[in-house]
Order: sequence, then structure tokens, then C-alpha cells
Amino acid sequence: MDASRARKILVLGAGPAGGAVALGLRRLGYSVCVVSEPRPFSAVEGISERVVEGLRNAGFEAALKTLPAPTPRRVHWNGVTSAANAERLVIRTEFDQGILVDLERNGVELVQGRICGSSRGDDGYRVDVETTDGARTLHAGFLVEARGRAAPGTGLERLRGPETLSLLQYWSGPAITPRTAVQSCADGWAWMAATADGRRYLQLTVDVASAGLPPKEQLVEHCNSRLRALEMAAPFIDGAEPTGELHARTSTPILCREPVGDDWIRVGDAAMAVDPLSGNGIFQSLSSAMQAPAVINTLLQQPQRARLARAFHKARIEELFFRFARIGRDFYAQEAAFASEPFWQRRRDWPDQIPMHRTVKPQDVSIARRPVVENDLIRDAEVVVTPDQPLGVWHLQGLPLAPLLRALRNGTPGDHPEHLLAAALGDKKALAPQLLTWIRRQGWI
Ligand SMILES: Cc1cc2nc3c(=O)[nH]c(=O)nc-3n(C[C@H](O)[C@H](O)[C@H](O)COP(=O)(O)OP(=O)(O)OC[C@H]3O[C@@H](n4cnc5c(N)ncnc54)[C@H](O)[C@@H]3O)c2cc1C
Repeated sequence: MDASRARKILVLGAGPAGGAVALGLRRLGYSVCVVSEPRPFSAVEGISERVVEGLRNAGFEAALKTLPAPTPRRVHWNGVTSAANAERLVIRTEFDQGILVDLERNGVELVQGRICGSSRGDDGYRVDVETTDGARTLHAGFLVEARGRAAPGTGLERLRGPETLSLLQYWSGPAITPRTAVQSCADGWAWMAATADGRRYLQLTVDVASAGLPPKEQLVEHCNSRLRALEMAAPFIDGAEPTGELHARTSTPILCREPVGDDWIRVGDAAMAVDPLSGNGIFQSLSSAMQAPAVINTLLQQPQRARLARAFHKARIEELFFRFARIGRDFYAQEAAFASEPFWQRRRDWPDQIPMHRTVKPQDVSIARRPVVENDLIRDAEVVVTPDQPLGVWHLQGLPLAPLLRALRNGTPGDHPEHLLAAALGDKKALAPQLLTWIRRQGWI
């Protein structure tokens, strides 16, 4: 093993992001230690089949086995009720336990305990952990910060969206068919889930500044009376009773502007946390985590490319954050019935007015050099940049696109585009008609 691979990489936090980075680094042959403690409250979350696929690609097997079959979902938004799709319920305590099993099976060293501090000296990082067996100090050459929203952010520039809080309460009652529902209301929206064992999970998301939340001792009644007023909540609360404590989770969108250094990286919610409305938190966490092993590999193996690797991670984190923030904005803007309420006003214009999809005109399409991933390392390559794809498109089915676009542009007015493409494709010229259709559909020519 070379010296850089022998440097211990310490991952702080074993959620989907920390887990995916650890598994990815193991595949590259690194020695990895993950330190984490269980979350204090068992949340329930919903994911789509696309996220299930992402989790499978990341290498989670035991965690996936904890997911029940897809559950039908009803949505009441802007006065319309629809029952278009389904989602998988993630019982986070069970799922997170599955992640630990996956890590152990893949040779990741696990330390279970609370991280209470970390510092950086000349010989690397020192991380203090409280375990059930007492205090431990761990040493590492590289740190992956994946403690989710709990990751300390002191000294880091962060962009925050409208301050948002989600109030979560379990209810229990007779067994009902598993289901989920979403409903908008004047001061926010609710997400509700029922599992096969009769447990129901109700989550009310409100605006911190305008919700007028009562003191803590009245919060449960306040929250439950808000839920009782929602018609979609009826199947979840009729014949059921609240059980356990009410929990509050911050759900403010937060972007960490500096997500990577030469010997540290932030992934998942620690780098960028999104509004839960998008239902894409786990997907986004995975996306940032799946690219991280190549970034870390470059920082450790090819420090001369450190700037490029850092730029790659930062640009992708920001792109993901704004993409999902704009999806959320457009979804909030669809709710017209409460448009004048503070919750909705603050969210329908944030983060900006830039449309989700921009029409691409040939004059806006350029060829530029951008960082890309090749063989688990970051390098720079020529890509095609458009207003819709600011990070650039490098390949399509393994074919570099920048040389093909250049060939089309360098033709003379009489040349047929398909012939120009065929000449540039060489022995793959049979792909020219198909590629031309694709390029035209993108608006590049
Ligand atoms: C109210 C709400 C509802 C949501 N609903 C959904 C949904 O329906 N669908 C969806 O896809 N996403 C949802 N999300 C987002 C989702 O929870 C996160 O995006 C995702 O879990 C982030 O993964 P992560 O690995 O970055 O962090 P986490 O999953 O938060 O993992 C971090 C880990 O680090 C551990 N940790 C933290 N601090 C310490 C410490 N000091 N010492 C040791 N360990 C520590 C934690 O216990 C945890 O195990 C929701 C979020 C909120 C707030």
C-alpha cells in the first residue's frame, strides 16, 4: 500500500452520506474509520425508487432490506387532491442500523460514540469521542464531516434559506393500510405516514418567524390542533392517540459555501441541507457523497490537482443546492390559496427568480474546460456548457461531446450536419443520426 492510502481517513457521522463515502473509499482501497452515535429520535422519511436505486449503487444492502414495500401517497395542494405516486418509508433507526451493518461487512472500522471535539495539529487531526467504555481519542490524516445538520459550522460561510422548523409527533392506533399524505395549510404543510403496525408519524413544517409558536408546554396541543384541522390527517389520527414526546427538527435550507479543503471535506447535510418539501434530502446527501471518494483520492494521490478537485466538489454542491431550492420554490408557488400568508410569501421567491429550466439557444452554448471524474480521479476536460448545464456535459454513451460540437460548428454552410458528425465519429459513424437528433433536441445547433 502506498503512503497516501495508509493515511487513516476518519468519517464523522454514519448517515447515508458518511456511509456512502466510507463504502466508496473502501472500494478504492483506503483504510476508513467511521465514528457515529445513533440519532436521538427515530424519524420517518419518504424516498422514491430513484433514491432506492442510488442507495443500491452506493453499496447499501442491509440498509435497503429495512425498507418496506412502496406506500401509496396522496397530496392535497392548491385545493387539488391527487394520488399519483408512491414512496418508500424509511424508519431511520432501522435504516441507520442497516448502514452500520453494511459498513462492518465492507471492512470499515466502526467507533460508536459521541464526537465531542476535534482539532488539527502538525501531525493531522485529533478527534475526541465519548463511548460507553469511556473517552477515546482518534487520529486521522483526513476528515470527512458527515454529521448532517449537527455538523459544527463555526467560521464557515453559510447561506441560509427561510428559517423553517418541523414538529414531529408519533401517534398510535389500530393497524391501517400503510399510506402517506401531504397537505398544505395557511402556515405551512404537513406530511403524514402510517406504517403497517398501527404507528402513525405526523410532521408539521412551519415558518419560524411567523408561526407564533406557544411556549414548550403548549406546543403539543398547538401542533395537534393544527393537524386535526387538516382533512388529509383524518385517516392518520382518527381512533389514534399521540404517543411519546413531540420533537422539533430544523429544516431550514443551508448551503455551506466552503465544503472542502486540502485534508477535509463536508458531504451530505453537512455540506448542503435542503427543505424537506423536496423529499430529496437522502438523494442529495448521496449525490454529494458519491462524488467525494474521487475528490479525496485526488487530494491524497495528486495534490498538484487539489485546486481542481476542490472546485469540482464546491461547484457540484452549489449546483445541487440551487437546483433543489428552485424546485421547492416552484412547488411553493403553485399553492395559490395561501399566497399572501407569510410562510408562502417567504418561500415562493427564494432563492432567486432564475427559472428551473432555461431555453438553450445555440449562441449560449460554449466549449470550456471543467473538472470531471475519470478513473476515480478529478481531471479537467473539454465539456459543452449551456445555461441549463453550467457544469458542462462531457460524454454521451462514452463519446466526448465537445469535439463533436466543434466539428459541427467548423463545417461550411453547405455541409450536412450528419456528414460532419459522421466524419468526426470515425469508426462510430453509424451513431451520427441518433446523436444529431439528441444534439438538436438540446438546442446546441
Ligand atoms: C423534518 C425533516 C424531514 C425530512 N424528510 C425527508 C424525507 O422525507 N426524505 C428524504 O429523502 N429526506 C428527508 N429529510 C432529509 C434527510 O434526513 C437528510 O437529508 C439526510 O438524512 C442527510 O444525510 P446525512 O448522512 O448527511 O446526515 P444524517 O442522516 O443526519 O446522519 C448524520 C449522522 O451523524 C450522527 N452525529 C451527529 N452528530 C454527532 C456527534 N456529535 N457524534 C457522533 N455522531 C453524530 C447522527 O446521529 C447521524 O447518525 C428530512 C429532513 C428533515 C429535517
